[in-house]
Amino acid sequence: MMRKSKSTAKKLARPRVLRTLSAMRTWSAQVRGKRETVALVPTMGALHAGHLALVRLAKRRADRVVVSIFVNPAQFAPNEDFSSYPRTWDADIAALSELSVDAIWAPGVATMYPDGFATKIAPGGPALAGLEDKFRPHFFGGVCTVVAKLLLQVAPDFATFGEKDYQQLKVVTAMARDLDIPTKIVGLPTVREKDGLAMSSRNAYLSADERAAAPTLHRVLKECAARLKAGQPLATTLGEGEAEIESARFAVDYFEARHAETLTKVASLADGPVRLLVAAKIGRTRLIDNIGV
Ligand code: AMP
Repeated sequence: MMRKSKSTAKKLARPRVLRTLSAMRTWSAQVRGKRETVALVPTMGALHAGHLALVRLAKRRADRVVVSIFVNPAQFAPNEDFSSYPRTWDADIAALSELSVDAIWAPGVATMYPDGFATKIAPGGPALAGLEDKFRPHFFGGVCTVVAKLLLQVAPDFATFGEKDYQQLKVVTAMARDLDIPTKIVGLPTVREKDGLAMSSRNAYLSADERAAAPTLHRVLKECAARLKAGQPLATTLGEGEAEIESARFAVDYFEARHAETLTKVASLADGPVRLLVAAKIGRTRLIDNIGV
């Protein structure tokens, strides 16, 4: 058998970059024609170890892996960070080549939302839980619309999403179920820095002082989960936790205990399984995190 030279092997590992809908559909049809399964990893780029863990999960699930890179304007409000959102294309491609991803689906905004585009998904249930939706009312409509399009464009057997965006995971799972989209949504536990901070493309915005304070979120979540398990009442625990987060110079949007599946309110652990969820701003950066109790 002929051995591949090093340079050929490197070339072969480079993912196909697909930019048009017809190229994406042709790729998907060819793979399915060979009876191979496909997993999609939707991202907005600026890839970090959390994204790469999603890719590894996708590789375990399916024969072929597509990573989409699309900074979705529809999920940003006008006052949010769409134009300044980090874009690190070359580093992203290098990292995905390293993992031997098969294809990168990178449509432009005009491909995703051509002139005359006028349809939006209006998710309910977990999308109206009063968590992220309360502070970013445009967000889940934008996410669901783009994720539905991605799932229809790629037609994957699996799509992987991070628990870091816990409400999003539940919203997308409900949408795929409700719209009979035949893709299994697979969740991945949050990947963290050594000090516990949940990895996020937005961590790049943090100043050195803010970065030093940021692990407070995870520390307080862990401590509150432990206090709840030890029998401390919910209201006391959430009150203490919120005060601790605020004392680290965060402005808290919410710090709540919810049912881990429905995201409805809970009064005690007996109403569980319970998930603690937090969103807070430090300086100009808004961070979110969550933990199971
Ligand atoms: P984003 O590029 O931020 O839209 O995220 C793309 C996917 O990566 C989403 O499913 C996120 O939930 C997931 N993700 C982001 N950060 C992490 C993390 N630290 N651990 C696990 N998944 C993550």
